[in-house]
Amino acid sequence: MELLKQRIRQDGTVKGNDVLKVDSFLNHQIDVALLGEIGKEFRRRFADCGVNKILTIEASGIGIACITAQSFHCPVLFAKKSQTKNIAGEVYTTKVESFTHGKVYDVIVSKKFLGPDDTVLIIDDFLANGAALEGLIDLVNQAGARLAGAGVAIEKAFQPGGDRLRAKGIRVDRKSVV
Ligand code: 5GP
Repeated sequence: MELLKQRIRQDGTVKGNDVLKVDSFLNHQIDVALLGEIGKEFRRRFADCGVNKILTIEASGIGIACITAQSFHCPVLFAKKSQTKNIAGEVYTTKVESFTHGKVYDVIVSKKFLGPDDTVLIIDDFLANGAALEGLIDLVNQAGARLAGAGVAIEKAFQPGGDRLRAKGIRVDRKSVV
């Protein structure tokens, strides 16, 4: 997506060998209009898949997931990184190693909001080693839901996540590749 590519070239900065900082429009301050265009593109790409739920992981996926969900007219469910008293009842749980913090988190969603009647599109800001998407896919599988695919704003193609997921037959769409 040309708009996003241009924006990365203009405002992105590289930290160390493998981290792209896009704090001015995606990860801290958010350019809502730009995310809206990305959301519409995901909608076009997955229009015929019967998506009725968008799934993401807190925190940085939530903004882009919400805007994408507007195009699909469906709710967003975000996986939480630890059990809180706010979630009552049973949960699906998996473990995800955070790329940016190097920590392993228990990630949960309530069984109330994900089940066999759902067709899920997973949305996230970045795809690097694939741990976040693999954790979310595990939650979808535990719930017996159908996975339409995954959409990420930026895929870091020099890291192995995208290739690994596609090799498993998962449809992964990205709006820019670095
Ligand atoms: P993965 O699980 O695929 O290794 O990493 C994806 C997650 O790590 C995303 O949810 C994103 O928040 C974070 N992430 C991975 N690489 C980058 C990066 O280069 N920049 C930023 N800002 N976040 C990243």
